[in-house]
Amino acid sequence: MAHITIIMKNIEEILGTENLERIDCPFCSSAGAERCRTIADIVKCGGCGIIYLRSRLNQSSQFDLYQKYAEGKSHMSPPSGKEKMASSPLRRDGFLYELLEFVQPNGKLLDVGCGWGAFLDNARGRGFEVMGLEVTRNTIDFAKNNLGLDVSDNAITDIDCRPGTLQAITMIHSLEHLPAPSRRLPNPTNFSARAACYAG
Ligand SMILES: [Zn+2]
Repeated sequence: MAHITIIMKNIEEILGTENLERIDCPFCSSAGAERCRTIADIVKCGGCGIIYLRSRLNQSSQFDLYQKYAEGKSHMSPPSGKEKMASSPLRRDGFLYELLEFVQPNGKLLDVGCGWGAFLDNARGRGFEVMGLEVTRNTIDFAKNNLGLDVSDNAITDIDCRPGTLQAITMIHSLEHLPAPSRRLPNPTNFSARAACYAG
């Protein structure tokens, strides 16, 4: 019964008001909204009608949370040996196969939220010049030190996305983690002819 007690508490009680921020609509910036769920602060925007999470972890609490995201038995934890590294499902063979239907691997691929670099390593093996962005420190260190990958904690807005510089941007289970995706992502129409942003 313990878990029932927990979910009946509201979000402020569970996470602490000091760790939360309340946002306006991320799409139309309207502050008017009606709550449509009773447990989490999930609301319907009075301006555009989209449903969004209004109260959420603030930036520093999000950062702290993501530093623990790939520890212990987490599926995002770096692998313990070469065999596990080579057989990891995070290499995303299926996604890479689909991507190669659209893009020839002869340019730069940027993976946003690349974790310990499994997909980047796979894409590099197919011919892409790869780079990755990540916030979780232990996975950045693993990607750099164990796989020799170009991975940093830079913001995507710091990356040169002018036409012709990137062949593809990939985001695998990452888009939903961005606090303001419409402001953080470069416009795919700025890319060169066969490039775009692929979310998996
Ligand atoms: Zn709205």
